[in-house]
Amino acid sequence: MTRSAPLFNRLALIGVGLIGSSIARAARAQGVVREIVATARSAATRRRVSEIGIADQVVETNAAAVAGADLVIVCVPVGACAAVAQQIGPHLASGATVSDVGSVKGAVLRDMAPHLPAGVHFVPAHPVAGTENSGPDAGFAELFVGRWCILTPPDDAAVAAVERVAAFWRALGANVETMPAAHHDLVLAITSHLPHLIAYTIVGTADELAEVTRSEVLKFSAGGFRDFTRIAASDPTMWRDVFLTNKTAVLEMLGSFNEDLARLTRAIRRGDGDALFAHFTRTRAIRRGIVEIGQDSPAPDFGRSHPDLPIDPLPRPYAAADDS
Ligand code: NAP
Repeated sequence: MTRSAPLFNRLALIGVGLIGSSIARAARAQGVVREIVATARSAATRRRVSEIGIADQVVETNAAAVAGADLVIVCVPVGACAAVAQQIGPHLASGATVSDVGSVKGAVLRDMAPHLPAGVHFVPAHPVAGTENSGPDAGFAELFVGRWCILTPPDDAAVAAVERVAAFWRALGANVETMPAAHHDLVLAITSHLPHLIAYTIVGTADELAEVTRSEVLKFSAGGFRDFTRIAASDPTMWRDVFLTNKTAVLEMLGSFNEDLARLTRAIRRGDGDALFAHFTRTRAIRRGIVEIGQDSPAPDFGRSHPDLPIDPLPRPYAAADDS
């Protein structure tokens, strides 16, 4: 069976780390673009991208990357998006679509939109998929398969441009949902940003303990700590920017979290087993729900991708018929 025509002619990737390089690999594997032009901030990353050959062209500047591109995806930390938008604005082709992959959407919309000229479509996106690794070698083509990609287009976005970006992500294997940027930031504050903050906190706390040695922490980490260390190994620049740019939503969720933690602390202090049991029973049901909808496997290594993760039904590009 023949593949359908590419959705875009030239994809420009600005930033080629975990996410940018995964997009390059997946877009090429699925034939959704004719050509990929990439650039990154440092000469070392640009050189590495050339070596691993995941783009058709590697260029030195953001301006050169976007020339003639009909899809531009900015894959840099959220705090760097405004400067990138400012640099590419004057060089964008009329009718081009600009998107991003930032983990915070309100700030991206606010910071990038003013720099994009009329006649250019802006469709911010957040693929909710990742690992704790960074850089162009960390990416892989299957990263987005069975994961969600959330689009947060501005109110006046052209429906056809939004649908084309949605089709791009579906072709990479993702499920697509559209929502307002502010709602995205609230949802992700509790599902992603707060868990990372807790992991960063607990790993730091364990590191500072006087009465438990560091070697004991490492040795007995399978008791739960190990899973926090994976999350707490995530990129410091990316996560600094997430907390700086999603401050309001994170502080709101942190307020609720602190109240609940105080309630559990009181239950422990008072020996209130019923309260603890009721709470843990409720949270166990949430975990089972996540496994049931295929967002994780029942295997006990929480958060990692699993080769056995059920991703049926496979999105079209991955269906066996396409390979024949
Ligand atoms: P990464 O692997 O660290 O790659 C970041 C890329 O951005 C690199 O090419 C880097 O260039 C470039 N960069 C860093 N700082 C920059 C700056 N100040 N100006 C211009 N370019 C800069 O990061 P990533 O994990 O792919 O994350 C990229 C974006 O995806 C972030 O906005 C993040 O919020 C979002 N995201 C991440 C995940 C995840 O799990 N990691 C998931 C979903 C979305 P050099 O290599 O030359 O330094």
